Amino acid sequence: MRKAVLDRFMKCNILKVKKREAMPVEKKVILVIVDGLGDRAVKDGKTPLQLAKKPTLDELAKKGSTGLMSAIGRGIIPGSDTAHLAIFGYEPQTYYKGRGPFEALGVGIDLREGDVAFRCNFATVDENLRVIDRRAGRLKDEGAELAKSLQGMEIEKTEVIFLPSTEHRGVLVLRGEGLSPSISDTDPHTSGNPPVLKSKPLKDTEEARRTARIVNEVVRKSNEILSSHPLNKKRKEEGKFPANIILTRGAGVYQKVESLKERYGFSSCCIAGSALYKGVAKYVGMEILKVPGATGRIDTDIEAKAKAAKEALRKFDLVFVHVKGTDNASHDGNLEEKLLMIEKVNRLAELLKDEDAYLIITADHSTPISIKRHSSDPVPVLIYGDKVRRDEVKSFDEVSVSSGCLGHITGVELMKIIVDLMGCGHMVGS
Ligand SMILES: [Zn+2]
Repeated sequence: MRKAVLDRFMKCNILKVKKREAMPVEKKVILVIVDGLGDRAVKDGKTPLQLAKKPTLDELAKKGSTGLMSAIGRGIIPGSDTAHLAIFGYEPQTYYKGRGPFEALGVGIDLREGDVAFRCNFATVDENLRVIDRRAGRLKDEGAELAKSLQGMEIEKTEVIFLPSTEHRGVLVLRGEGLSPSISDTDPHTSGNPPVLKSKPLKDTEEARRTARIVNEVVRKSNEILSSHPLNKKRKEEGKFPANIILTRGAGVYQKVESLKERYGFSSCCIAGSALYKGVAKYVGMEILKVPGATGRIDTDIEAKAKAAKEALRKFDLVFVHVKGTDNASHDGNLEEKLLMIEKVNRLAELLKDEDAYLIITADHSTPISIKRHSSDPVPVLIYGDKVRRDEVKSFDEVSVSSGCLGHITGVELMKIIVDLMGCGHMVGS
């Protein structure tokens, strides 16, 4: 036995996945996660996947291994963030620290250990701080300009960082000593002109009280600064809602975790349009690729994504491709758009199926059109590639794959299967 292999073998704890040294993987992987793909019977007793035209996906199901997946566990309704964490192999129960840090990483902020991050909206309030519009009339490109005016704040010796995201969205990061993510949102989350909420400590600690105080001051100052911003004066003149305050939600603390490379020894990258998915990917150490045309919406350029994935395969061992439009269509209750997005996914599969890699296609969760929200219904999973077992399944849909040879797995189990396919797993015993 070669010394390096022997060393690794000797160090190997048989029940835990241990760090690996960098070695070439046996086979690369393209992991496509189609957001909110799973559904319930929506028309003639069929799900959108059963209704859609998707010859390539069906062909891959015929030639590959299929099954069902409940990303976090059966009967559990996953968020997109927690489901992705699980599929990347990180138990959400241990690794999920709130959505804010993912959004911050996703817009490109280099977080430091202990930073507390929030998702934010630019919103419109009246002089009594009642919320007229939580999205400031769905801001277009003005967010970047407005965000500049909020730079450089320091409150109670805490650095305040604010960066714009897409449309009316932004990210707030507090950096300094003695901060806590255990505080409530200032975003009232409802319509009907509710007042801006005061952030409150959710734990009886000085850190939580202090952080709530700082956030309330940031929100107050944002209102002061943005109210007199020339861009808002212009918006008012044009009869638009001024973006005159930021509202905070989803507080979370950043803690660095062991990367996929450190855990398993393979390199990885992410092709996605929306900040959240880039953020979760960055959290586990993936490199984020810029792909023009990857919008995170139904108009996403699937050909550009496929091209980027093919190129990325030359450099990376695992290429994660995210498709968001299916989830948007479901949240809007729009069957026609969901079918269109499934056809786009079919095209993506067609463009990627001949690569020298395993092609794995699944979803993070179901978003049934009939209820317009996430549900715990399991999602289909498909593994296509060299010498994988072929089951009897002939169609890639929620019902057909239930008799597939993968059975019913969790997200963490899927990553274990992927790690083994890549040749990066460890044997238990001898
Ligand atoms: Zn999702």
